[in-house]
Amino acid sequence: MRDRTPCYEGYIYDLDGTIYLGERLLPGAQETIAWLRSHRRPVVFLSNKPLEPGSAYAAKLTRLGIPTTAQDVVNSTQALMAYLRATHPGKRLYVIGEPALLNEFAAEGFGLTSAQDEIDIVVAAFDRTLTYDKLNTAYQALMRGAGFVATNSDRSCPVEGGAIPDCAGVIAFLEATTGRACELIAGKPSPLILSAALGRLGVAKERALMVGDRLATDIRMGCDLGLDTALVLTGVTTSDTLLDSDIQPTHVLESVADTP
Ligand SMILES: [Mg+2]
Repeated sequence: MRDRTPCYEGYIYDLDGTIYLGERLLPGAQETIAWLRSHRRPVVFLSNKPLEPGSAYAAKLTRLGIPTTAQDVVNSTQALMAYLRATHPGKRLYVIGEPALLNEFAAEGFGLTSAQDEIDIVVAAFDRTLTYDKLNTAYQALMRGAGFVATNSDRSCPVEGGAIPDCAGVIAFLEATTGRACELIAGKPSPLILSAALGRLGVAKERALMVGDRLATDIRMGCDLGLDTALVLTGVTTSDTLLDSDIQPTHVLESVADTP
């Protein structure tokens, strides 16, 4: 596709609005990733959605024409797990989440419990199977002093047919009823998810580029952690909103096809 050499040693890409929109790859996405790989530049994809494991995003990218393994995808759940493993080893978790998420935690060796006096840390996540009982169990554990973390803080989660309340509602309910503040949110714009991606990339942050379509998450997170950033105009941000923003990327790209 091109004969130039990529400027960075490693690349981190947001997915929605950057690599694809819904079920359609954005222009140049397939060729750009192939170009980077042909120059042996590692590429990691970031997803904030805790709905599906990394393997589901890898399968989608592969289906759309970008061969990807689960190892190439980092989501907010994995970022949270890396944090908990490093700072709270052996703690028992109560996860407000869907069965697939609980399985992910269990498969990674985390101890899960719903016995109120055994809970060390409450994990808030997106949950379409939320019940009063779950909120009450988390409430009781928090009132006893359990830790309080969350996968992400998105206000709504796009699903088939629209959007529904996400993790932010669970966090807000528990904060309001217990008077406690959520101590850590792993997803964008937390530097945690970007750190997890950098770890996967195996490249120093000074030599990596963060590419995304959202100023308030993708670009802000990159700036906060000291990475060069590239804003693509294929998603939610237009050149007008960019002018008004105090968050400014290193590069502005019409699409990922212009990746430096
Ligand atoms: Mg996006």
